[in-house]
Order: sequence, then C-alpha cells, then structure tokens
Amino acid sequence: MSTWKILLLAGDGIGPEIMAEARKILDWMNAEGIASFEMEEGLVGGAAYDVHKVAISEDDMRRALSADAVLFGAVGGPQWDDVPYDARPEAGLLRLRKDLELFANLRPAICYPALADASSLKRELVEGLDILIVRELTGGVYFGQPKEIVTLQNGEKRAVDSQLYFEHEVDRVARVAFDLARTRRNLVHSSDKKNVMVTGVLWDEVVRRVHAQDYADVELQHILADNCAMQLVRQPKQFDVIVTDNLFGDILSDVAAMLTGSLGMLPSASLGAADESGRRRAMYEPVHGSAPDIAGQGKANPIAMIASLGMMLRYSFDMGDWADRVDAAIADVLAQGVATADIATEGARIISTSEMGDMILEALKKQAT
Ligand code: NAD
Repeated sequence: MSTWKILLLAGDGIGPEIMAEARKILDWMNAEGIASFEMEEGLVGGAAYDVHKVAISEDDMRRALSADAVLFGAVGGPQWDDVPYDARPEAGLLRLRKDLELFANLRPAICYPALADASSLKRELVEGLDILIVRELTGGVYFGQPKEIVTLQNGEKRAVDSQLYFEHEVDRVARVAFDLARTRRNLVHSSDKKNVMVTGVLWDEVVRRVHAQDYADVELQHILADNCAMQLVRQPKQFDVIVTDNLFGDILSDVAAMLTGSLGMLPSASLGAADESGRRRAMYEPVHGSAPDIAGQGKANPIAMIASLGMMLRYSFDMGDWADRVDAAIADVLAQGVATADIATEGARIISTSEMGDMILEALKKQAT
C-alpha cells in the first residue's frame, strides 16, 4: 500500500471545525488499514498571520510543495481586515495556488435527492444532477497585463484589464477536461465567447485540436458562455463536463453551485500538471469561506469539506471506489431527514457540525461492510 503525504491547512473561522470532521474519516481509514495517510498540520490565513505575520510560512509552503495533496479549510475574518495587504488571509490561498501551479479548478455540482427541494429550480430539473465545471485558474483576465487605471490628460480615468491566453494554457486544461469526461459520461462542452473575443477563437481552436489529436472518442460540443449560463438554469442535466476560462468559469461555476442548494455543500479540487509518474500537485477545499458569522457555534455544515476529501481520494490517490462510498455516505445521511441549519428543509432535524461528521462516518462504515 502506498503511503500518501497530506498537509492539512484548516485556516480560520469554521475551517478548524469542518477540518476536524474530515480528519475523523482520514483517521478511521488509517486505523482500518484502508489507506496509509501521513498527515501534517500547518497554519494558513489569519491563523498563520497571528503566529508568523505572514499568510503562510515558508516552512508550510515547503511542506505543501512536498505533499501528495493539500486539504484546505477556509481563510479570512474581520479581525484581519487591517493587516498589511500582502499578509491578508487570502494571500495564503493565492500563494498556494500559484506556487503549486494549480491551473485546473474542478467544481462538481451534485444534487442529492434529499436536497432537491432546497434548490431554486424545480425538483425534476435538478434531481440526480451531476456536472463538473473545469475552470482555467491561473491565466486569463485576472492575471493579464496591462491591468491598470490611468488618468488621461483631460483628467478622465481609464481602466484596463487584459484577457490573454497562451496555447499551452488552453491545451493543458482541455486535456484535464477530456481525461475527466472519460471517467464520467464522456461529454465535454467547451465554453467561450469566440463570437466577440479573439481569446475565444484561440481557445476553441486549441480545444478542437487537442480533441482531434488525442480524444476523438470523447464527445465535444461548443457552447457560447452566455448561452451556457442560460442552459445551466434551463436544463442543467444536459451537461457532463464544462471546460472554460478563468472569468467565465468563475461565473458559470457559481451558477452551477446554486443549483444544488447551499454553499456548505460544494467541494472543489485544484490540480497542477502531471509529472512522469502521472502524479499531479493538488489542493482540495470547500468553495465557501470561513463563515465568521457562525464560527465556533457548531453550526457549520462539514459536507463541502468531506466531499473535498472525497475528491482527494478520487483524483490524488486513485481511490475512486472510496470516493464513491464517501458520496454515498453523505447521500445516506441526508436521506435520514437530518441537516445542518443551512440546508434544512421543512421537517428536517437540525444537527451540529460534529453530529453530521459522526453520522457520515457511521454511514461510511456501513458502506465498507
Ligand atoms: P462565506 O462563504 O464565508 O459565507 C457566506 C454565507 O454562507 C454566510 O452566511 C455563512 O454562514 C454561510 N456558510 C458558508 N459556509 C458554510 C457552511 N459550511 N455551513 C453553513 N453555512 C455556511 O463568505 P463571506 O461571508 O463572504 O466571507 C467570509 C470570510 O471568508 C471573508 O473573510 C472572505 O474573504 C473569506 N472567504 C474565504 C474563502 C476561502 O477561504 N476559500 C472563500 C470565500 C470567502
């Protein structure tokens, strides 16, 4: 059995509470000999600032770089609003994404049957929904230069952001999307705005080339990003994998997210390039933030964190069968009519963060027998 090195970065706010629930599962898998995880804990965000005056220490960065996967909670909170800009809690997260070169952000949107009524769409549109958005994470308009506000001679200000993409950036994220589609329903929608943007023209050209060269067995469809947003709320189940750039991915993944009901349900994975052995740098984290409004009260929903752990098993440790079991355990618990406050529908019994974690672990144990 391989031994996997995991760096746990719980962070701030509800981060430590939800990480504790994920840890119960990892500890149990270790104790049962299902896997061999070597876990280390580090500080990130405000928690790191309080000790080291930076959002992540060099030592923890080194550990992140040498880990097989990083499991991340959440960062931020009002008590760090006035720290220097470079040391603000989010800087830790951005540094990790940058230094680990995590260019592909995977955000699944899965609708559990028990929560179909919590969605803003009708039950029949979302029940059984299982889509995956692959967002390019390190290029595009959020990083392109020039990026500035200049004051012109007449005193008027002009702002510019630059959307730019290199072929290799599109090529590598397209490959991630096609590879993932092969493990799912074998369908990729590539989304851009090639009707009005040259970056979209290049995006589409590269995706088609990669498809023709190496992935002709996968069905590829093109969809303009505005139409994609519309189709996501009209008929979301038509999609399997959607691959798109940083900006459109930011927006489309939030639309897809809300189809499932609550922020507390949404996991994510960010992957880097594969080395010769096929191993990728990777970080797994819930989509939500540190929820300072409910921190320390036992109200946080740990499901996004636990589902992120599931993604880690699937994508970093080749334990897809155990990832399926984690997902089934979550569905099983929700079907028992319990919920944390954020996902409670009528008649549900509201339980705490640790009760939810315990019940998911119990359900997982049953899955294992
Ligand atoms: P948030 O996601 O923390 O919270 C938004 C709302 O959703 C709050 O009402 C919160 O209580 C609720 N919520 C979020 N996660 C929940 C969960 N697991 N269970 C139950 N309810 C949950 O976003 P925000 O309030 O805009 O930001 C709070 C802090 O988090 C800020 O400092 C922000 O910068 C930071 N943030 C961090 C990340 C990250 O670490 N990846 C992401 C977004 C925001």
